[in-house]
Amino acid sequence: MKISHASVLAAFFSGLCAVTGTVGASAAEDKTSSTGFFLDTVVTITLYGDTDSTAMDGCFSLLEEYEQMLSRTIEGSDVWNINQSEGKATVVSDETADLIETALEYSRLTDGAFDITITPLVDLWNIEGKSSLLADGDAEEALQEDTADVLIPTDEEIASALSHVDYTVVSVEGTTVTLSDPDAEIDLGGIAKGYIADRLKEYLLSQGIESALINLGGNVQTIGTKPDGSKWKIGIQEPFGGSSDIIAAVACAGASVVTSGTYERYFELDGTIYHHILDPATGYPADNGLTSVTILSESSVVCDALSTACFVLGLRDGSELIETLDNVEALFITEDETLYRTSGFPE
Ligand code: AMP
Ligand code: MG
Repeated sequence: MKISHASVLAAFFSGLCAVTGTVGASAAEDKTSSTGFFLDTVVTITLYGDTDSTAMDGCFSLLEEYEQMLSRTIEGSDVWNINQSEGKATVVSDETADLIETALEYSRLTDGAFDITITPLVDLWNIEGKSSLLADGDAEEALQEDTADVLIPTDEEIASALSHVDYTVVSVEGTTVTLSDPDAEIDLGGIAKGYIADRLKEYLLSQGIESALINLGGNVQTIGTKPDGSKWKIGIQEPFGGSSDIIAAVACAGASVVTSGTYERYFELDGTIYHHILDPATGYPADNGLTSVTILSESSVVCDALSTACFVLGLRDGSELIETLDNVEALFITEDETLYRTSGFPE
């Protein structure tokens, strides 16, 4: 769904940049910005320079196409078909096969901290549904003292869901995907936005666009520099702050910046935050003192997979992993709002 399409000379910073936004204001540039809602996410694309509507329209057609392909909830999408297959082989698009292969690479690299078969746990915890329920004061009152029973799954439920979380059951042969556990299901929510941001960038470059910002719900990919030749400044949201409260800013050109954080989707019970990044080793929301992890690299799919994975791995193992990778940097923020940067992350 595309919400608006307007040629704007408006403020650079958009309140819709929920997680990571652009910092700074630019008043009189030749730019076109469009916002829509895809894959549960506010998407904003900003193109600089003299462009007609072709490139922007092309981006929104691609977003529509990828949503139809990768959504878990749209009947007939590749992911939906895989999840209904009960162990049988499913033929998918080249892109879906490619993305699942990439996801599996990151599962192997992170020893399963990143795992797209996390779905039974995502459904069991239903963090998004519960946080909306708790946002409704009447419903919260109705829960009364049974709240913990209603909100927190039992050990048995977690063990049962966990028994179907195992990325090694996923195999990809060409464009055929098979889950050898018939009860396993995949969820590309931790990696799809990065993949789509890269595809949009590729498309825009093919259209001759030299300066642009692609923001998929805080998953930011950039093309070139700002029109004046300076670097983009991507703001990193202060955890649990307002959407315009920035704790740090990253200068980059032609690179992607992606943040995973507890504050994006969570509910709080008795002082504990239960959030949407789940640890496949325990079955619980990853609990290691972090509130967010931001990854900087040229590839948005790499950023997306690694921000989720490093959140699960924690500060020590996550930063150790990043230091072994070329051209990938990370910024970890802990619960006490201390910032830890890997050796090449810009100050
Ligand atoms: P992100 O915002 O990119 O960190 O992705 C978080 C989303 O990825 C969650 O809402 C789940 O749909 C999914 N997810 C949660 N835990 C994991 C995990 N350990 N590995 C892969 N995907 C996950
Ligand atoms: Mg991610």
